[in-house]
Amino acid sequence: MTQATLTVKGLKTHFFTKAGIIKAVDDVSFSVEPGQVLGLVGESGSGKSITGYSVIGLVDQPGRIVEGSIWYRNEDLVSASEERLRQLRGSKIAMIFQDPMMTLNPVLRIDTQMIEAVLAHERISRREARSRALDALAMVGIPAPAQRLRNYPHQLSGGMRQRVAIAIAFLNKPDLIIADEPTTALDVTIQAQILHEAQKLCSRTGTAMIWITHDLAVVAGLADRIAVMYAGRIVDQGALDDVLDRPLHPYTVGLLGSVPSSNKRGQRLRQIPGMTPSMLNLPEGCPFRTRCPRASARCLEAPEISQPLPGREVRCYHPHLGEEAVA
Ligand code: SF4
Repeated sequence: MTQATLTVKGLKTHFFTKAGIIKAVDDVSFSVEPGQVLGLVGESGSGKSITGYSVIGLVDQPGRIVEGSIWYRNEDLVSASEERLRQLRGSKIAMIFQDPMMTLNPVLRIDTQMIEAVLAHERISRREARSRALDALAMVGIPAPAQRLRNYPHQLSGGMRQRVAIAIAFLNKPDLIIADEPTTALDVTIQAQILHEAQKLCSRTGTAMIWITHDLAVVAGLADRIAVMYAGRIVDQGALDDVLDRPLHPYTVGLLGSVPSSNKRGQRLRQIPGMTPSMLNLPEGCPFRTRCPRASARCLEAPEISQPLPGREVRCYHPHLGEEAVA
């Protein structure tokens, strides 16, 4: 059996604000294997980004991990020192941010940034580091990479800058990449291209990746597994095709109904009724209860995770298993 690159179990990351406790991540469990892409999907505020930041130890005050474990191979990241986490970030675990300028320094040429990124973690010559940078740019589909290396970030388009940021993430051959909505600002064709390149790189290099997105359509063709988050919890999880072909949780069913490609031409898109609840004021019991067409009196108590089908995990009393009546 392959050892997972990352195993998260029962993770709770809470924010202790003056207005109350926000349970941004509340009992989240998942794992990612080498070469696998996990799509972590949810609306903004569902806790998906905080899950990513928890893994790499970048949760800011007033937030903190209050429970659960995060294992990077055999290493417990929750109890790791700040110094160890810093060592891991940028070498073994890399992050790609929504804004590539979080990674890129505006006043340095791309070659300087990429070569320094390699030399910070490895003792090789500048010539070797430059050649590694060239390869990484070529791998993410940047044309004329030698020319691009001499550019400053402002001389590149938004799509190119994000490709460079992705190339930098892959530069030190990390075991794990966490990509937080990295293509949201780009047009759909470029998003698909970049995701496709990233997926190819993962399966070629064995790098595991968590692709965080609010858009189910973005990961639909490219992730290996999907975990759907709602109000700080993973509510539906499984292999990509299984989740798309047979969504179990009413929220996943709603999400799929609101994706344009999943609807027949001429049909109206179905919206999930109601609003996302405030994390400071979640409904009692199941947090999806006030928007859920299958809610029953039982849902006044919060559901635990169950496995109604092989390889599937769902947090719901009445998952879509057939046309049985909801009691
Ligand atoms: Fe809907 Fe109840 Fe399932 Fe929550 S537990 S999603 S309210 S059916």
